[in-house]
Amino acid sequence: MPLDFDNRFVRELPGESLSNQTTEDAGRSPSRQVLGACYSPALPVKPTAPKLLAHASEVADLIGLNDAEVQSEWFLDAFSGRKLLPQMEPFAMCYGGHQFGHWAGQLGDGRAINLGEVINPRGERWMLQLKGAGPTPYSRSADGFAVLRSSVREFLCSEAMHHLGVPTTRALSLVGTGDMVVRDMFYDGRPKREPGAIVCRVAPSFVRFGNFEILGARNDLANLRKLIEYVIRTDFPELVSSHKAIDSECIAAWFREICRRTAEMIVHWMRVGFVHGVMNTDNMSILGLTIDYGPYGWLEDYDPTWTPNTTDAQGRRYCYGQQPQIAYWNLGRLAEAIAPCMEDKAAIEGAMELYVETINTQWQSTMAAKLGLSRWTSDEDSLIESLFELLRATETDMTLFYRLLGTWQVHPSAHEQPAVRVQRILEHFQEAHYRPEERKENYAKRILDWMDRYEARVRQEQGEPTDRRSIMEAVNPKYVLRNYLAQEAIDQAELHGDPSRIMQLLEVLRNPYAEQPGMEQYAKKRPEWARNRPGCSTLSCSS
Ligand code: AMP
Ligand code: MG
Repeated sequence: MPLDFDNRFVRELPGESLSNQTTEDAGRSPSRQVLGACYSPALPVKPTAPKLLAHASEVADLIGLNDAEVQSEWFLDAFSGRKLLPQMEPFAMCYGGHQFGHWAGQLGDGRAINLGEVINPRGERWMLQLKGAGPTPYSRSADGFAVLRSSVREFLCSEAMHHLGVPTTRALSLVGTGDMVVRDMFYDGRPKREPGAIVCRVAPSFVRFGNFEILGARNDLANLRKLIEYVIRTDFPELVSSHKAIDSECIAAWFREICRRTAEMIVHWMRVGFVHGVMNTDNMSILGLTIDYGPYGWLEDYDPTWTPNTTDAQGRRYCYGQQPQIAYWNLGRLAEAIAPCMEDKAAIEGAMELYVETINTQWQSTMAAKLGLSRWTSDEDSLIESLFELLRATETDMTLFYRLLGTWQVHPSAHEQPAVRVQRILEHFQEAHYRPEERKENYAKRILDWMDRYEARVRQEQGEPTDRRSIMEAVNPKYVLRNYLAQEAIDQAELHGDPSRIMQLLEVLRNPYAEQPGMEQYAKKRPEWARNRPGCSTLSCSS
């Protein structure tokens, strides 16, 4: 067994003590409030007939495994929870969280079990975590399992995001358990039996804002300080070198770094059209990684009020356009939790300002690149505002629109008849429009006006036209995990027992910015059958 473990989290942080119980009993025994601890020992349930359905070779490589090892019996045993490796010390973390704006108390890893920390041949530390391997002390009234559909979605999206350049937790493997799980997908009192599955997630750490919030809420300041020091030492070592001790100033610098990383992550989400769907504080990584792929979705027609999450359909708290504000609010909850360990309260305000500044400056440079401009001038605010209005004026696929804008030829001067030019523009963007027949005269005039302004701005640029296209194609993906594509892969795996589409999709999503001739079918706008189909346009939290 070629994995080298160093289980620092359980070694250095306080765990629930289980004096009168074996670990096995404790992991299964009823949900409980876990006080004075950062985690509880927990064991996966042994699946009946596990089968490896998909894996990501790049992630295997991160932990020092090759494809042959991934196909081995011991791999299946370990990553299905059937038979752990001797050095694994499985545990579930204790955390709390603000859900939909309200403090929810203790949550914790209700269906995630950390197996241990691998040190790879390059000396990097990676936590391995099974999602859907059975109940833990944090499962509350739920079963701790996960269904195939949500596991396929988590597996594919983690990897798609990574290849898009978005900070994220990774996915090593997807295993079918051979057991059935009961879910009421629409919360309509009609539960169904569905195949169960387990994803092995991989990240330097799965610590969330909520890990600090629960200790703050319980006024457990000793453990709060321990956890802060642990996370800084383990995951932010550069801060330890630049400060003499992990003092109030160092903690302030750490919070600034969390604010900065969170801002960067959100700008990436906005750039690629990702909607997380459940931005509760328990779903916010302390490392600024995208974490917990549940009822997420990809923006198809540009609509900032869109959310895939049916549970949030009324309030739309977590819709696409709200994500920057929500992350700011979440950082405020983290700040409240860690404030007792910081003397200089003004440092908190400063860090929150840094979040706003980072979002603004990075958004400007991102939008400049999305439009193929080498720099941002003050005029761009209005150019972009009218672009967003235009995209909303008729259902326009955001991903396709930016790619098509990149291949639009801007001539040195415009001498075209307006009617001819409008026709050329409408034809060029035809495939980005969901209802091309609705593009009436008024719309034609608006897109003509906007393209005139855009071209005028492009003409001020110094570079060659090819520069514009390459700037744009480095930030505007051609291939994203469109909601219906994930659903097709799920249908094929679930209804026909054929998981091959999952690996095919992963292969395309490995190079999201490349043209990939022959793969264009994966870049097409959502077909009409998928417009209102559950799983394609709407998702529930029931996973
Ligand atoms: P989520 O909204 O998926 O991030 O989950 C919120 C909380 O509910 C977390 O503490 C999860 O661990 C827990 N949870 C969600 N689904 C399950 C499940 N099937 N079994 C046990 N706990 C769950
Ligand atoms: Mg969660």
